[in-house]
Amino acid sequence: MSSQKIGIVGSGLIGRAWAMLFAAAGYRVCLYDILESQIVTALAELGQELRNLENKGTLRGELKAAEQLALISTTTELEQLVVDAAYIQECIPERVELKVNLYAQLDKVLQPQTIVGSSTSTFLPSRFTAGLKQKAQMLVAHPLNPPYFIPLVEIVPAPWTSDQAVQQTYDLMVSLGQRPVKLNREIEGFATNRIQYAILNEVWRLVAAGILNVLDVDRVLSQGLGLRYALLGALETAHLNAPGGVADYFQRFGGEMAKVSATYGPTPDVRDSEMLAKIAQQCEEIVPLQGLPQRRATRDAFLTKLAALKRQF
Ligand code: NAD
Repeated sequence: MSSQKIGIVGSGLIGRAWAMLFAAAGYRVCLYDILESQIVTALAELGQELRNLENKGTLRGELKAAEQLALISTTTELEQLVVDAAYIQECIPERVELKVNLYAQLDKVLQPQTIVGSSTSTFLPSRFTAGLKQKAQMLVAHPLNPPYFIPLVEIVPAPWTSDQAVQQTYDLMVSLGQRPVKLNREIEGFATNRIQYAILNEVWRLVAAGILNVLDVDRVLSQGLGLRYALLGALETAHLNAPGGVADYFQRFGGEMAKVSATYGPTPDVRDSEMLAKIAQQCEEIVPLQGLPQRRATRDAFLTKLAALKRQF
């Protein structure tokens, strides 16, 4: 259990989730936002959320909800946020000009020991840290939503990020109970979205070609591959699926894999309005737009159970 100070910049959906993760591990959290009203709402909702989790028996860490809440303070002063912070997690909206401005401001006030990790899902760290004095301390630490139940964090360095900053961030994430991966260099989409987009592209092609409808193409993942992937990665899955392990798997199926892969065709233009309208219509028949909050809540409730089960695997 640590008493180090952690700063969170931005108290929206992801900033709150990080605040809960750090407080659960006993860190002192300082939550910063430009909007006072947003901070007030965030703190009230965090208190409620922590109590809900406690009542359901799914609160993380060893501290009670009230003890975790007591570890979270707030500020609207950036100078106050950075003082004595071991680490700062940035969670402001996904707009590059906002990130560029914020990192330039942080660069002026950051102490030498403080690492800054961005929650960005899309921007390479070099895009908003280039030219800064303290750029060696800055990187991406990308969570998946909801971070409280999905432990993966992608740590992505800019070309100038120090190895020490990467390793310290990795160790910090482990101390929260998260399961980080370190990318050796920055790359568009990081790892998660590169894999996710490959899946989305093929799902799109299968629906566009009229081979499967939305319900069935999603079933291929949710009732098929996804069950394995909830436990194992693609390579360990392959390793288990041939008598002689992964080398045997690719020897046996590599030729077929290349043949099928040659039929994928070009990347679809997913903004194509006719196809998108069809997919949206079918998705909305499964979950109407007004039902999305309820469906998300159900997903999160089951993710909690899945996370508990996975810890035993
Ligand atoms: P959000 O809109 O819910 O919250 C953003 C918060 O930042 C707001 O409270 C806003 O007042 C505050 N803010 C705006 N400008 C600021 C500034 N200059 N300084 C301090 N605070 C400022 O956004 P979110 O969904 O929490 O996303 C935050 C980051 O997390 C984004 O980079 C996003 O890509 C990333 N992310 C989001 C998800 C997701 O599913 N929402 C998943 C992974 C990563």
